[in-house]
Amino acid sequence: MIRRIDLRRSAAGGAPLDYRTAVPRAEFDVEAATHAVQPILDAVRTRGTDAILEFAQKFDGVDLTDIRVPVAAMTEALAALDPAIRAGLDESIARLRTTSKNELEADSVTDLGPGARVTHRMVPVGRVGLYVPGGLAPLVSSVLMNVVPAQIAGVKSLALASPPQKEFGGLPHPTILAACALLGVEEVYAVGGAQAIAMFAYGAGPCERVNLITGPGNIYVATAKRLVKGTVGIDAEAGPTEIAILADDTADAAFVAADLISQAEHDPLAASVLVTDSLRLADEVEAALEPQVAATKHVDRIRTSLGGQQSAIVLVDDIEQGLAVVDAYAAEHLEIHTVDAEAIAARVNNAGAIFVGPYAPVSLGDYCAGSNHVLPTAGCACHSSGLSVRSFTKSMHVISYDRGALEAVKDHVVTLANAEDLPGHGAAVSVRFEG
Ligand code: NAD
Repeated sequence: MIRRIDLRRSAAGGAPLDYRTAVPRAEFDVEAATHAVQPILDAVRTRGTDAILEFAQKFDGVDLTDIRVPVAAMTEALAALDPAIRAGLDESIARLRTTSKNELEADSVTDLGPGARVTHRMVPVGRVGLYVPGGLAPLVSSVLMNVVPAQIAGVKSLALASPPQKEFGGLPHPTILAACALLGVEEVYAVGGAQAIAMFAYGAGPCERVNLITGPGNIYVATAKRLVKGTVGIDAEAGPTEIAILADDTADAAFVAADLISQAEHDPLAASVLVTDSLRLADEVEAALEPQVAATKHVDRIRTSLGGQQSAIVLVDDIEQGLAVVDAYAAEHLEIHTVDAEAIAARVNNAGAIFVGPYAPVSLGDYCAGSNHVLPTAGCACHSSGLSVRSFTKSMHVISYDRGALEAVKDHVVTLANAEDLPGHGAAVSVRFEG
């Protein structure tokens, strides 16, 4: 069901290994999806809501007349919400709020001498578009992961989109609508996929364009976010999910197999990778996968994901080599199941989020850890961060100098301006001290 990649020195025969390519991603990636996504973006940019309604029919099988979800639909969904689900949402919201408040960055002021001050001022992004997936599963948890940090950051204008569902009369899934009501989000659109990203980026019908788009999604959503980056800001490419597990001989095979399956459940393109120096563990995990997969609901999707080129059990000589492999891979989620897991985790540079030890599975982070589950995929974790309250803020330097403070530095400004052959820059300072 899952292939093996042997990176042990004996298997490599002494040849140098490039860890960045040793564990491949799925064949259908952001590059491959571009030809499908660009025409969708162009159509929404030029034809607005008409194009969105056509794509709803084509991709979601629904005939819509309006993309805006009435507030009453959200209020009704919240009234009908199962109390146990409500309790789970409340707990998740409370933990996310605590973390988000703690991570909010304060302004900082630097005094550089009498009358010379630079303030680093934090401000929220003005308007954001939040994407909540709803193709293969209604990711109500993604409502919380997007909305809570945006609200704590102080974002004033917030729009949310999720795919229309045929079985719910073309509205997004009712649990998603209930979560919107719970958080006081009123601007919600029944729009999915690349067309939702285009709607946010260019504006369409009732939806004004946003400054920043955040949220996870499938390969079409991730591709669309990459293509509109620059027109608007994006958080990161948070595409089909990935789990890498770095484990030694002390790991529990049943736990490891369950965690590999839990992420394979998201998408046929999801990646589940075990990196281990223990042949015993590799064999036991492989043996545990078959019965565990057979017992889950989404067997076909999981088999496709685990059987794809993007999933593997990777054998290494030792945890030192394993660390180099997972760092080069830069997984969205990285679990550490080793002796001294905290110390190993502290040495990882590249991962969307790190889950330390046998009792911090990715599923915890998906729902209720207090951390965010919107995380960079496809290796983007080597340059991008997961969603947080900081994603929704930006900073400005505010420069305050009085006459004396400017005079103290004026000769340097003039000299540096002349060195750049920009004497007008120097003159703009000198003029203040003439006569
Ligand atoms: P989705 O809402 O992301 O995508 C559904 C939409 O895809 C549809 O509405 C449709 O418009 C579009 N689509 C489907 N087929 C298409 C095609 N052939 N051409 C163009 N557009 C098409 O929901 P999903 O499919 O369930 O995917 C959710 C994804 O989110 C999964 O891949 C999951 O792994 C990922 N995810 C990622 C993170 C993260 O932080 N990286 C977190 C949670 C979920």
